[in-house]
Amino acid sequence: MPMIELKDVCKEYHSGDIVTTALTHIDLCVDKGEFVSIMGASGSGKSTMLNIIGCMDKLTSGTYHLNGNDVSSMSNRELSKTRGKDLAFVFQSFALMSGYTVFENAEIPLIAQGISRTKRKKMVMTALDAVGIADLAPKLTSHISGGQKQRTAIARAIVSGANMILADEPTGALDSKTGAEIMSIFSELHKQGKTILLITHDRTVADYAERLITLKDGRILSDEKI
Ligand code: ADP
Ligand code: MG
Repeated sequence: MPMIELKDVCKEYHSGDIVTTALTHIDLCVDKGEFVSIMGASGSGKSTMLNIIGCMDKLTSGTYHLNGNDVSSMSNRELSKTRGKDLAFVFQSFALMSGYTVFENAEIPLIAQGISRTKRKKMVMTALDAVGIADLAPKLTSHISGGQKQRTAIARAIVSGANMILADEPTGALDSKTGAEIMSIFSELHKQGKTILLITHDRTVADYAERLITLKDGRILSDEKI
C-alpha cells in the first residue's frame, strides 16, 4: 500500500464569481521512504498539491488516501492529530516565532501534544542535534543566520517523530551554499527512512531527490526517476 495515493484529484478555488482551477486529474502514488522533488512554473499548483497531501486543504473532487485511510472521511480531530504527529512542514519563510529561542521554537509542537517537560527537553535536543544546532538552543531566533533559522524550522518539523516531511521551497530564501547545507540535512533524514516531498525552483536542489515530478497548469507533466 502506498503512503500517499491521489486518484483523479481536482482542486478549484472559488472567490466570488471567479473560479481558479489549481489542480486537474492528478494521479499520484508515493511510497514510504521516497524522496520526491516537485518542480513547475509559479502558479502550476505545487503548493496546492503539497497542502492537500499535508491535509491542510481539501480537494474538490477525487480521492486521497494517506496510509490507506481516506482523508475526506477523517474527523477534524483525526486530521489535526495527523498534522501534528505524522506530518512535518518546512516553508521558505521559516515561520519561526520571533522573541523565542531556538529551543522554544522547536518545542512548540510538543507543548501542543501535552508532553512532559523532561521528555520534551530530550526530544528537542535530539532534533536540534539531528540538524547540527544543539549548541544554539538558548539563542533567540532573531540572532541567528538564515541557514540556522531553516535548521530550527526543520528541527521543529521533525521533533514529534513525523515520518513524512513536506517542504515548500525550503532553500528559496537561502544562498546556494547554505541551501546545499540544508539539502544535505534532507538527504540525511531520507537515509534515516523519512519520506520527503520537496518543492523547488532549482534543478540542483531537485537533484538531491530520487524522483522528480513536474507540474504544468495543474497537471503532472512528467514523473521520472532521477
Ligand atoms: P505554485 O505553488 O505552483 O506557485 P499554487 O498551488 O500556489 O501554485 O497555485 C495554483 C493556482 O491556484 C494559482 O493560479 C493560484 O493563483 C491559485 N490559488 C492558490 N491558492 C489560492 C487561494 N487560496 N485562493 C484562490 N486561488 C488560489
Ligand atoms: Mg507555491
